[in-house]
Amino acid sequence: TDYYCTMSMGVVRFPADGDTVEELIKKADIALYAAKCAGKNRIEFYDDNVESTSYKRLDLEKNMRNATRNAFSEFEVYFQPIVNITKEGNPCAGAEALIRWNSGELGLIPPADFIPLAEYLGLINPIGEFVLREACIHCKYWNDMGHPEYKVNVNLSVVQLLQNDIVERIAHVIEETRITPQNLTLEVTESMQLQDYTYYNKIFYDWKRKGIQIAIDDFGSGYSSLGQLQRLRADVLKLDRSFVCAGLQGTRERIVIENLVNMAFELGMEVVCEGVETQAQVNVLQDIGCHIAQGYYYYRPMQAEAFEQLLGP
Ligand code: C2E
Ligand code: MG
Ligand code: MG
Repeated sequence: TDYYCTMSMGVVRFPADGDTVEELIKKADIALYAAKCAGKNRIEFYDDNVESTSYKRLDLEKNMRNATRNAFSEFEVYFQPIVNITKEGNPCAGAEALIRWNSGELGLIPPADFIPLAEYLGLINPIGEFVLREACIHCKYWNDMGHPEYKVNVNLSVVQLLQNDIVERIAHVIEETRITPQNLTLEVTESMQLQDYTYYNKIFYDWKRKGIQIAIDDFGSGYSSLGQLQRLRADVLKLDRSFVCAGLQGTRERIVIENLVNMAFELGMEVVCEGVETQAQVNVLQDIGCHIAQGYYYYRPMQAEAFEQLLGP
């Protein structure tokens, strides 16, 4: 096996940048983080100008570490309903679990602002497991209370997938919460730059044997590759919002989406269109033959109680 390694380095100058060990290490870390953000495989010198944003990052880091140590009480899982657009009244088919962080010190922070750092710090592992457990508990409750058809989708970071006991970890949460495995879909993002299809397919195979479904999330959002569609043994393809928006622009866009949907169907996959915001988009999706949709047009992400009041027993 060939391994390709790169190195990123953050450099501080003594005594220009500081004269205590703590300060120098902290600034070296800031510079290192800047090197990684600038594409990795490079050296960055500490720069006072990036300090304010980097201190913000260290603040975020400190607060996030505390929040995970603190029984996750600042985190809450929201649910965005996913609907069947082929049936009368567009019945709910389940929901996607989406994390929210209401930090006591920093206020409400959207996932896009803290998940990348959580991944970098490895904190996404405990956070992701918290989301999974919450999602399974709620889905099991819905299923028991008169909606056996509801499923729940949980986003998994590639960092979680790379833990060597990830298969057992997920199995453990399933046992603990007693969710029907067929009602759990794990979403992995196709931007995960994963090349090691054998590794992922082996994990997916273990899950699929238990009945868990795998979805490729955000398909069409930048790193799309038909190779992934071909090689990853997934059950669901989630078409990214940008794709769904493009569907209205013209014939070319429409042809691409339509054929993608058909290709997914022929590969035995279900297709979910994300980010549906308008009736015009719904019309196109129905024309194309897409069955399942998710987006503000139908519902926004909401707290579990709101979901239950609206769509529960
Ligand atoms: P995603 O998995 O693709 O989730 C869908 C995102 O699109 C959500 O943003 C949702 O609120 C938003 N959305 C849904 N419908 C619409 C619409 O009609 N219009 C627009 N403009 N947006 C819509 P959110 O909750 O901010 O999450 C952003 C991303 O953060 C997620 O994208 C996912 O990649 C990540 N994320 C969220 N929760 C978790 C988690 O528990 N674990 C991991 N690893 N990632 C998570
Ligand atoms: Mg998702
Ligand atoms: Mg998505």
